[in-house]
Amino acid sequence: MVYKSRMNPDDLAFDQRHIWHPYTSMTAPLPVYPVVAARGCELELASGETLVDGMSSWWAAIHGYGHPRLNAAMKNQIDAMSHVMFGGITHPPAVALCRKLVAMTPDPLECVFLADSGSVAVEVAMKMALQYWHARGTPRQRFITLRHGYHGDTFGAMSACDPDNSMHSLWKGYLPENLFAPAPTCRFDDEWDEQDIVPFARLFAAHRHELAAVILEPVVQGAGGMRFYHPTWLKRIRQMCDREGVLLIADEIATGFGRTGELFACHHAGIAPDILCLGKALTGGTMTLSATLTTRAVADTISNGEAGCFMHGPTFMGNPLACAVANESLAILESGEWRGQVAAIETQLRAELAPCRESPQVRDVRVLGAIGVVETERPVNMAALQRFFVSQGVWIRPFGRLIYLMPPYVITPSQLVRLTAAVVRAVNDPALFQN
Ligand code: PMP
Repeated sequence: MVYKSRMNPDDLAFDQRHIWHPYTSMTAPLPVYPVVAARGCELELASGETLVDGMSSWWAAIHGYGHPRLNAAMKNQIDAMSHVMFGGITHPPAVALCRKLVAMTPDPLECVFLADSGSVAVEVAMKMALQYWHARGTPRQRFITLRHGYHGDTFGAMSACDPDNSMHSLWKGYLPENLFAPAPTCRFDDEWDEQDIVPFARLFAAHRHELAAVILEPVVQGAGGMRFYHPTWLKRIRQMCDREGVLLIADEIATGFGRTGELFACHHAGIAPDILCLGKALTGGTMTLSATLTTRAVADTISNGEAGCFMHGPTFMGNPLACAVANESLAILESGEWRGQVAAIETQLRAELAPCRESPQVRDVRVLGAIGVVETERPVNMAALQRFFVSQGVWIRPFGRLIYLMPPYVITPSQLVRLTAAVVRAVNDPALFQN
């Protein structure tokens, strides 16, 4: 492959000694696998082996790797300009992208803020809510959210992440103290149980005059537990917010762009948030870019407040290269092919992960859209399980008690069988789990 770069023998040693990977230790780093190319649904290791990708690089590479249309969009844009500041300047890729975002997201959302990553989109959303209340002359600074939530690793986002998973004890005194309701227990496919919303409703009611916004991941709680909850939960929250005038922030950074079987997870409940965060798959997994959308009413209130503007403006805001490729990724989605692809993946995941239920290692198997989750009884032995998956020719990155698949939408049935078969084999090997 033309762009494949070499790995020198000491590169891995340098990496282990000097480079931090996500959530790793510098003194006892877990092994990393050198990837030199990625095409379609396969990653190519430096050794020449190829792995079928089950992760879409964390929800992002929905069209697979090296998609000719995405690559062409980036190459064309590079020749025009890869970056120019957004302060006082605009450009065709940003305008085209924002037009598409306004058109494809729920109707009341029409004002777009472009930022660099998912976490920053969440910071922007929270800041919008704070500025909204400030501008109304009744400042409010509290957010209410759900346990098992995850919204990113910056401080504002972390203040809305599950307190245990994101180690709130470490940041005590620094992190804003938000409100956490118990996570939903009524599952996506269960019959709706009105009791399930009661703990949230109580907490909401007790603090309703100080709440700036509810922030949540609609329907799928991702990195905080891969839980799929009942869409009526979301409907009830929308109703509560409407009743009290509290804003609703939907973090669709993971769920957006078709992953759950609907274009946006909010569609399962037929609701629209006041503020929507998008990221990850926005550029088809090629470049980092995020967007926070809000309503005209929220945008106008912020703009008419004391500051006279929204107080945010990152250097790489609206990066033309990222906007151009995002625009092309959305154009691919517009063909509608994703719907059939995701439905087919869902059917296959349901059938082929079902045998996992027979293993004593397994507590639960659940599937929604192109997401398949096997929850185990004991935490996985990360290094051993990762090695096992690589030996099976697949790239699956488990964490804690969760082995999950979210492949690119373009995966073939035979590639998907390789992933599901590897998971079934893994859960039948007790040596791959911690004692
Ligand atoms: N929100 C959700 C729901 C996410 O899943 C993530 C990333 N896993 C983020 C926010 C943060 O995005 P990023 O990693 O791009 O900062």
